[in-house]
Amino acid sequence: MLRLREVAANPNLDFMSSVATLAPTTFASLPFAQKLDRLAEVAVRIGLGLQPGQELVITAPIDAIPLVRLITEHAYKAGAKLVTTFFSDDATTLARYQFAPDGTFDYAPAWYYDALATAYRSGAARMGITGANPALLAAQDPAKVSRANVAVSKAYKPAMELITRHAINWTIVASASPAWAALVFPNDPPELALGRLWDAIFSTSRITSADPVAQWREHGANLKKRVDLLNAKRFHSLHFFTPDGATDLIVGLADQHLWAGGGTTAGNGVYCQPNIPTEECFTTPHKSRVNGHVTASKPLSHQGTLIENIRCTFKDGKIVKATATAGEAAINKLISTDEGARQLGEVALVPHNSPIAQSGVLFWNTLFDENAASHIALGQAYSTCLIGGEKMSSEELSALGANESLIHVDWMIGGPTMNVDGLAADGTAQPLMRNGDWV
Ligand code: ZN
Ligand code: ZN
Repeated sequence: MLRLREVAANPNLDFMSSVATLAPTTFASLPFAQKLDRLAEVAVRIGLGLQPGQELVITAPIDAIPLVRLITEHAYKAGAKLVTTFFSDDATTLARYQFAPDGTFDYAPAWYYDALATAYRSGAARMGITGANPALLAAQDPAKVSRANVAVSKAYKPAMELITRHAINWTIVASASPAWAALVFPNDPPELALGRLWDAIFSTSRITSADPVAQWREHGANLKKRVDLLNAKRFHSLHFFTPDGATDLIVGLADQHLWAGGGTTAGNGVYCQPNIPTEECFTTPHKSRVNGHVTASKPLSHQGTLIENIRCTFKDGKIVKATATAGEAAINKLISTDEGARQLGEVALVPHNSPIAQSGVLFWNTLFDENAASHIALGQAYSTCLIGGEKMSSEELSALGANESLIHVDWMIGGPTMNVDGLAADGTAQPLMRNGDWV
C-alpha cells in the first residue's frame, strides 16, 4: 500500500503501519514528526527532484533545524553527495541594525555569494527554507535596510542569475517559527498559533493526501494544462479590473512571452517544482507596455518591512506614483533601487479558489501569499518565460521587453472581485477570470 511506502522512510513507523491496517490514518491524526517528515520528503523528491550523486546547498532560519535534519536525511537517501546548510538567526540579523556602525551597511559578503555561484556551476541543487519573522526589521531605519538589500542583491547577482535562468534544480519550502506564527495568528496563545501555522503550511503545501507525490504530479499536470492553453492564445496584453475601480491596469506581454507553471525542467535536465506550494501560471510582461493603476489586495512583507495598501500608477511601463498606508518610504526606496525596479518583471494568474486563498490565512510571506492571488512582480524578469530566453543575452532579452533589475518583488493584486481579460493585438477582449476565478 502506498501509505506504507511513504512512511517507511521514518524509523518510528512500524507501530503506526500496523495501526493503519486496522483503521485508515488521516493526515490530521499523524504525529507531528511524521507530518514534518512528509514535508521533507516532498521537498526533496518533488521540490528538487534531487539526483543521485548531486550536491545540495540549503539555507534556513535556525528555527527550521528539525525540518532541515529531515530534509538532509531524505537527501542522503536519494543519493546526495553532500548536504551543506547555512543557517541564519533573526536575533543576530537584528543586532546588526541595532549596533553595527552606520558606514557598514553597503557591505555584503561577496565571498559567500561567490561560493554559492561556484556550487551551482559545479552542479549543486539549491533549497531555500523560509520562515524568518516577516516583521523583523519593521522598526529599523528603512534607509539602512535598503542599503543592505542593495549590497546583497549586487553580491548575489552571479548566483541569482543561475537561479532565474533555472540553470539548476532549486526549490523553496517553509518552516513555521514562533515569531512568524504570532504575526499570522495574533489572537492565539503562542503554542496554538505555531500549531495552526504548521497546519496551514502542511495543507497548502498539498501533502495531506494518502499519496502526496501522486497528488503533486496531478496538480502539476493541471497547471500545465492551463499554461498550454494560455500559450496557445498568444495574447498581446492582459486587462485587470475590479468593479470598484481600485484596479484598472493593462499589462502588455513581452514579445515571445511564454507562460510557465507547475514545474520546470532546469538547464541541468532535472524536473523540479521551484516553489512549494505553487498555484500560479506566470509569464513575462513587456517592461514598457504597462498602463493604468493598481491597488494591492494584500499587504507585502519585504525583507522584514511590512508595506500595506500599496497603490501604484503606471505610465508606459514605469511606476510614476506609489503610495501605501504603512511602509510608504520602504516601497519608494524599493522602486528606486535601480532603473528596472519601477517596472514589471512578472505577471501571474492565480484563481481565488486555490487552497491558499480558501484557507483565508494572510501569511505575511510571499511564498504563500503570492500563491493565494493573481500578482505582479517589480524588477527582474524570468528569462525562462520567453521562447528560447534561457540562451539569450541580456540585450536580446531587453529587446523583447524583458525587464532587468537587482530586485524581484511579487505583490498581490488579485482577490474575489478581480476580473481579467486577455486582449488580442487588435484589442479584442476574451474573459479569462471573473470574480477571481477562471472563466
Ligand atoms: Zn509569481
Ligand atoms: Zn515572482
